[in-house]
Amino acid sequence: MRKREKTQMILKRLKEVKKKMEMMNSAAQARARNMVDVQTMLTEEMPGVCTAGLPRRVEGFLYKYKTGDVVIVCLCHGLFQSPEGFVKHAGAVNVENAMQHIVMKPAAP
Ligand SMILES: [Zn+2]
Repeated sequence: MRKREKTQMILKRLKEVKKKMEMMNSAAQARARNMVDVQTMLTEEMPGVCTAGLPRRVEGFLYKYKTGDVVIVCLCHGLFQSPEGFVKHAGAVNVENAMQHIVMKPAAP
């Protein structure tokens, strides 16, 4: 699959996920009140990340709220997870230093 198609597919999935998140999670809904900001982050400022040194290599997008909370959306399921949840998703047992197992991928041109 070409990179552009893949990116479009991911963005489409993220939009679906975002919709689901809005319906299911009232806390997230409250945070996402400023949808313009969320949209900007989802489409332009979400660095690609992947896990390192864990049983599975999971790819995702890192998403930072203005509150400082970090959420990572895995590409395999489109799930919003905490960094701890994300490394667990990759098979980590000890999630104390979750961010150490998450590496940024260089931005696509
Ligand atoms: Zn997943």
